[in-house]
Amino acid sequence: MIYLDNAASAPVNPKASEAAMPFLTGNYANPSSIHTLGREAYLAVTAAREQCAAALGARPDEIYFTSGGTESDNLAVFSAIGNNPRKCKIVTTEIEHPAVLNAVHQAEKSGCEVALISPDKNGIVSVESIAAAIDDNTALVSVMAANNEIGTIQPISDIGAICRERGVLFHVDAVQAVGNIPIDVREINADYVSVSAHKIGGFKGSGLLFARKNAPLSPMVFGGGQERGIRSGTENATGIVALGVAIEDITANIKKRAEKIARLRDLLIGELETIPDSRLNGSRTERLCGNVNFSFKGIDGETLVLNLDLFGVCASSASACCAGKQTVSHVLRAIDVPDDYIRGSLRLTLSEHNTEKEVTAAVGIIRSCVERLRENNGTKPF
Ligand code: PLP
Repeated sequence: MIYLDNAASAPVNPKASEAAMPFLTGNYANPSSIHTLGREAYLAVTAAREQCAAALGARPDEIYFTSGGTESDNLAVFSAIGNNPRKCKIVTTEIEHPAVLNAVHQAEKSGCEVALISPDKNGIVSVESIAAAIDDNTALVSVMAANNEIGTIQPISDIGAICRERGVLFHVDAVQAVGNIPIDVREINADYVSVSAHKIGGFKGSGLLFARKNAPLSPMVFGGGQERGIRSGTENATGIVALGVAIEDITANIKKRAEKIARLRDLLIGELETIPDSRLNGSRTERLCGNVNFSFKGIDGETLVLNLDLFGVCASSASACCAGKQTVSHVLRAIDVPDDYIRGSLRLTLSEHNTEKEVTAAVGIIRSCVERLRENNGTKPF
């Protein structure tokens, strides 16, 4: 099997699972219990909070553990608009993940005004277009650090500086960026940053929200008051411990890791470009080290992915959360991918575990699948 779907979910880091395992088996205590086992679990959660804070340049009391990127994005959006959404405006982009876009649409139903900023044809959102959309009613600007479909890296430091200057809260969905590019919450002037564990070597169902000290926070889950009253529910000690180790490990080795993966990415892009009637979607330069997004003219992307699977290649046609729905990608639409290419997209996302041999083998399989599908009118499986 050749796994090229690391942006959907990455392999679990063995150091993370090893650290977490004792809290699944031997120590199953509740971190809020005051007996010895409970206190041990609490200390492990505290240590993980410190690891997460250090990896992001934050303070431990600015880290709130959640069930993942989706919850963190929702918590940031609804915290920022507070109790009176009628009075406020959210500025965000057309290419955000559905976890932001659908939270924002929900806020819109409560009376919030929403400005959706378009990226350029390369998938980059300009600082000027964000600045121009901010007005006196704007409560929040939400811009992802890197896009999950086309891997484009947004100028979040500059956008953060504008938000700070204009007194507007700034949320960054860093789910795809953490571990691939440096994310320092102070450097980017963020008030909120979302992180998901399963993209960086932790477990599914675990993540965090960084919220700057004094940034507004309104809980969405009410109960026993865990996470300083912001996110009730017994802490997912195993997931949290794994997240702490995973984020520490991935951010410590960011440069070396990114260089290795980028070499594979460039090899993959170069080879795929030799397939006739293909195009790279998204910027060639402002791009995550592990992201390759190609479209093949006249091909149905989902059919291509199913055919690649028959030959042992795991890939996506859009992002995993949008795949399976027979819709055209909102990201590819936003960057004006031509009609005869838009349904034929293939997202291949690499990790440090992939090899040159795998890349070469995958290209051969993709080339023959594309040729065969074209012979069959682009849609019929083998
Ligand atoms: N934001 C981005 C950019 C993502 O890529 C994803 C997952 O694909 C999410 C948010 C949601 O994260 P989770 O799967 O942890 O809910």
